[in-house]
Amino acid sequence: MLNFDLYNPTQYVFGKGQTQKLTTLVPKEAKILLAYGGGSIFKNGVYDQVKAALDGFEVIEFGGIEPNPRFETLMKAVEIIRAEKITFVLAVGGGSVIDGVKFISGAVNYEGNPIEILKKKVLFTDVTKVIPFGTVLTLPATGSEMNSGAVVTIEATQEKLTLGGSALFPKFSICDPTVIASLPKRQIQNGVVDAFTHVMEQYLTYPHDALLQDRFAESILQTLIEIGPSVVENPSDYKLASNYMWCATMALNGLIQKGVPSDWVTHMIGHELTALYEIDHARTLAIIGPNLYRVLFETKKEKLAQYGERVWNITGNSVEDKAEKAIEKTVDFFHQMGMKTKLSENTTNYENTADFIVNRFDERGWKALGEKQNVTLEKVKAIVEMSY
Ligand code: NAP
Ligand code: FE
Repeated sequence: MLNFDLYNPTQYVFGKGQTQKLTTLVPKEAKILLAYGGGSIFKNGVYDQVKAALDGFEVIEFGGIEPNPRFETLMKAVEIIRAEKITFVLAVGGGSVIDGVKFISGAVNYEGNPIEILKKKVLFTDVTKVIPFGTVLTLPATGSEMNSGAVVTIEATQEKLTLGGSALFPKFSICDPTVIASLPKRQIQNGVVDAFTHVMEQYLTYPHDALLQDRFAESILQTLIEIGPSVVENPSDYKLASNYMWCATMALNGLIQKGVPSDWVTHMIGHELTALYEIDHARTLAIIGPNLYRVLFETKKEKLAQYGERVWNITGNSVEDKAEKAIEKTVDFFHQMGMKTKLSENTTNYENTADFIVNRFDERGWKALGEKQNVTLEKVKAIVEMSY
């Protein structure tokens, strides 16, 4: 097992009716910025629950954080926080609102040009320099409610870039699975596939000796396969909803990543597809993931075979046979979850995508990626072209 340091300070408050605990979770005397997205919280009752719990607090509202949050929009919130002397931010929404709030939290006291936070991947490690924040999660998918990373899009240059650091964990996250009842089917499909791919990024590498980590990862994958299709049909079923929510958090709260190698190239390429064509994040992963396993077959085949045996109960004559079947099972599952796994099924005018992405990766110095640093620009090109 690789050495590791497990640090996760987020207070995770899970279950029906937990939103009322906001009253005690938010620091006393806080002046709060309540950040939200396009308005779903007004339709599903979450806003009313939050307002009731914050009765007596001074609250300023900031709405309009888009899916795939924009740097340009988030900087408006930064100005409000400075002008109004806000001391705490509450993110109410899905991964986009929470990621947006992480950026805001770091940007308020950042002394340089805030675009550097994304372009130079500034690490926020000093909790005294960021604005503390908590979350009320409305969409299980990203794990952002219990991790310290975020992804933000720069509208002006159509770039989707990451930021993070140990100072950007939420102070608390309220995760009430009853919020899932109001989610559009498409978003539940997305959530399951995003969580599934988060596990794959940290699991589907090469055989190693972190035995428990493999079992953690496989159990999350199996649970997502077990409940995924039915939670889309029955989002009010508490058993399904609660397990889905906990799986999505566990997929990316840091635990399964400890002591093991990780890949993340599916996400790196996927972010480009969202930045270019505004394809939903999870849908980009369903397009890229299986083709990455195909192009990196020699590197990943042993782990693919283990995944096939343990997660899909595949039997086969050889490692290659089991590994190939495992990829096909994954694609079938994505189709069952409503994904269209070709780029051409998700957008038009995609012909130059591979060259465009390769150029960008080249400019950023991303020339040796993945768990073995063997994903070269040629391989990135092959993966994207195979995805057309
Ligand atoms: P999202 O972009 O936050 O939300 C998608 C849509 O769902 C929005 O239109 C939102 O509407 C709606 N919605 C949310 N909750 C709802 C509810 N309970 N009922 C009805 N509608 C609801 O989706 P997401 O998948 O959670 O986040 C995607 C973003 O997270 C991407 O930018 C992705 O790159 C990033 N990401 C981050 C991490 C991380 O570790 N930080 C990991 C993976 C992905 P409103 O706007 O009206 O609320
Ligand atoms: Fe993701």
